[in-house]
Amino acid sequence: MPIISNVAWDARLETFKGRDTAQYIESVIAVARRCAACGLPFGPGTALALAVEITEGCDTEGTVSLTFDPAVYHLQCQQPGLNVSQATDCIGDDLASVGARLVLNWGGTGQTKIPVLAYTMVPSLVFGEPGGEMTSALVSALLNHGFQMALSDSYGEIVRQAVPVGGTCACTVSGDGAIELHVDGALMHSQQLDRTDPGDAIWLEGARAGHVLVISGDNLGFTDTGLELGAAARLGTLVTGAVPVLVKADDKQSPFRGSRQAKGQDR
Ligand SMILES: [Zn+2]
Repeated sequence: MPIISNVAWDARLETFKGRDTAQYIESVIAVARRCAACGLPFGPGTALALAVEITEGCDTEGTVSLTFDPAVYHLQCQQPGLNVSQATDCIGDDLASVGARLVLNWGGTGQTKIPVLAYTMVPSLVFGEPGGEMTSALVSALLNHGFQMALSDSYGEIVRQAVPVGGTCACTVSGDGAIELHVDGALMHSQQLDRTDPGDAIWLEGARAGHVLVISGDNLGFTDTGLELGAAARLGTLVTGAVPVLVKADDKQSPFRGSRQAKGQDR
């Protein structure tokens, strides 16, 4: 079996990932902290194994779509593997968004606090020919609505280069702290913030000033310690945009739909 760094993987993965295989493996490993079998953390240099669950589906026009759901193990707990299955229903149904809110301190004295909403879809969904050029569904959807590709994972570069997105994108903020990102009428991501949490309160106050910086794409890593953007930047799947905020005046309860939420982070 092939090994990259200290990770054993199934050679058939290359059929699907092509020349992105090594970077894909590194992006998965970069955010893996615990063994998916025994639950213990990975020590430095530990021999690891990557197993990938691939689901194939077709959209109405017959384009092949694939979702990649990786799991990382101690090599002693599990052998590397690859399983391919056919989607039984609409492939989008099993996707969930995962995200976090961050506040970036920008500038020197009299710092501006920039509210950031970072999210991705799990598992990641791509379209195209296995082994050929694969296109991320999430990245292309966002690029089509005015988001820009980010080539650096530096927050400074990201903030400097973020441009306002198209009029089809909006982030709504409700009085109860519920935030929802809509793109072209579709709910892409939602989080429930807590107005009594100091970090959340700063985020909400910043958002009310008019815009949030949305960081999204495939291969984003959400860990206990922060947000990992390096792999997404290297793989060309990192997109950003300044999204206008719509403040909902009332305190209407906003349903919290299908999102997992990582712990909020400040930096
Ligand atoms: Zn283990």
